[in-house]
Amino acid sequence: MYLRIAGVEKESVVDGPGLRYVIFVQGCEHDCPGCHNPQTHDRNGGETVELAALLQDICSRKLLKGVTFSGGEPFLQARPLSILGRELKKRNYDIVTYSGYYFEELMAMSVRNPDIRNLLQVTDWLIDGPFIIGRRDLSLPYRGSTNQRIIDVAVSLKQGSLWQTKLA
Ligand code: SF4
Repeated sequence: MYLRIAGVEKESVVDGPGLRYVIFVQGCEHDCPGCHNPQTHDRNGGETVELAALLQDICSRKLLKGVTFSGGEPFLQARPLSILGRELKKRNYDIVTYSGYYFEELMAMSVRNPDIRNLLQVTDWLIDGPFIIGRRDLSLPYRGSTNQRIIDVAVSLKQGSLWQTKLA
């Protein structure tokens, strides 16, 4: 199976805790004013990569703690990302997923789309919501604006209500 990506950052310390492999997926419909990655918006842009090749590249880097799915909008490609995420979880990587949707919207979407539920289930921490330029705050860890939250997905799904965390 293939994933359409804008690019990868093979060793990052700014997209989640510890040393991480970051996948910037291609395609986003949120169109947030002030977006830092406008080149990721076109759903037909970027390049396609095989999941197996991505997995092999990640596993070849022994110091990585986790993987971050960024964008673009990861939930537009929930199926391949959930499959990749499942393989990564088997190998004990933690997963941060960014989304321009809020957690509540994703939960509502997941009722009709099991791939969205599956991507949530392999995500340890969801950083949710669109970037809002009027609420921009450069001091926030891992986020661009104050409306965005860091959500412990496993706890939230288990409790049935949203559980925020600091992830510092
Ligand atoms: S969700 Fe992210 S990638 Fe998409 S427009 Fe907003 S800031 Fe840009």
